[in-house]
Amino acid sequence: MSESTFMGVPRERIPWYPVIDYTKCNFCMECDKFCPHKVFERNEGERKLVVKNKENCVVFCRACAKTCEPDALSFPNKQETTALIKQIRKEEEAK
Ligand code: SF4
Ligand code: SF4
Repeated sequence: MSESTFMGVPRERIPWYPVIDYTKCNFCMECDKFCPHKVFERNEGERKLVVKNKENCVVFCRACAKTCEPDALSFPNKQETTALIKQIRKEEEAK
């Protein structure tokens, strides 16, 4: 469990990380080669790449998506995530 925070909110409460569309992914591994934060993990078997360490993803970063030629990576909506973070921060402050 990560103890890092973002905007005063525990990182593990923020649902920001890439989601791989396996109907598009060709397992070129460009996203994994690009990201320095060990978010992805290479696997044996059918799904050769998974999003393993979600909390390592930098909140609001989408950089690896630019390396993905088949456009297989998606992220949450930024405005909605910002609103969620503000809401969680209020909850945290009320504790
Ligand atoms: S969005 Fe940024 S931090 Fe997150 S997996 Fe992609 S490159 Fe890494
Ligand atoms: S860059 Fe895109 S196609 Fe290549 S492994 Fe990553 S998600 Fe799959």
